[in-house]
Amino acid sequence: MKIPENYKVLFLQAGASAQFAMVPLNLMKRSGTADYVNTGAWSKKAIAEAKKLGIDYKVVASSEDKNFSYIPENIDIGSNGSYLHITSNNTIFGTQWANYPNTGNIPLVADMSSDIYCRRFDPDLFGLIYAGAQKNAGPAGVTIVIIRNDLLDRSPENIPTIFNYKIFAENNSLYNPPNCYGIYIVGLVMKWILDQGGIDKVEAVNKKKADLIYKTLDGTDFFKATADSKSRSIMNITFRLPSEDLEKKFIADATAAGMAGLKGHRSVGGVRASIYNAMPLEGVESLVDFMQIFEKQNG
Ligand code: PMP
Repeated sequence: MKIPENYKVLFLQAGASAQFAMVPLNLMKRSGTADYVNTGAWSKKAIAEAKKLGIDYKVVASSEDKNFSYIPENIDIGSNGSYLHITSNNTIFGTQWANYPNTGNIPLVADMSSDIYCRRFDPDLFGLIYAGAQKNAGPAGVTIVIIRNDLLDRSPENIPTIFNYKIFAENNSLYNPPNCYGIYIVGLVMKWILDQGGIDKVEAVNKKKADLIYKTLDGTDFFKATADSKSRSIMNITFRLPSEDLEKKFIADATAAGMAGLKGHRSVGGVRASIYNAMPLEGVESLVDFMQIFEKQNG
């Protein structure tokens, strides 16, 4: 990923959910606001934790007006923020940032839980990146945090030690016993990525997989992609069928044909194809064949 020397990689616990609180606890300056872009359920959870901590937070852009079907383009970055928080891929609504905002002196913080290692990006754009490992990096129970060194000096003395980035950086993630076995598996997944030819090769396969499904969705009125074409995720592809009954049948028939996990998140319904790095191209080809047959029989 070409992470520069002036960043530290930390292995923490308690999932990305813990980061929703650790980010404001550590990065909040004494003055200014914590700024958030709201692109759906996971952004909302991050914002809710900032609110609980009683800090001065601001939602600077949101796509709630259109049911989170797009990534906002006009973001009022301002000059007074402690950081700007984004969710790089919205796992539930199937949207993903195509280009990251340039936030200048304001550290950009990204929750990359559902798209880290799916493509190359420029780490220099970010002050902090966090991700629960369980999508593209390894097992649940490992959280990866990539933080720029200068931000470690922001961690206040008076926050709980176990939530302090600086303590974990100073102790090489060994402040207390980490999830050693989980981190070992993350190491194996990194080797697997290298065996595939590296991140650029993995990205090429991911794009091919996503293109196949989007092409199928765009080629018919039977299926309808829910995300705006400019904001589409290459990890979670969300779509609808003409009725909820047909969606139920689609998911049941797909399950019977050996394709599991296609049900949309319970909060939004519909269909969701989560095609993380571990899903091979052949799996996507089977899905697309199945979609075409299903349309012929039920359309
Ligand atoms: N952020 C995003 C984008 C997610 O997809 C998830 C989990 N699906 C979370 C945060 C929550 O992560 P965790 O379950 O590791 O706490």
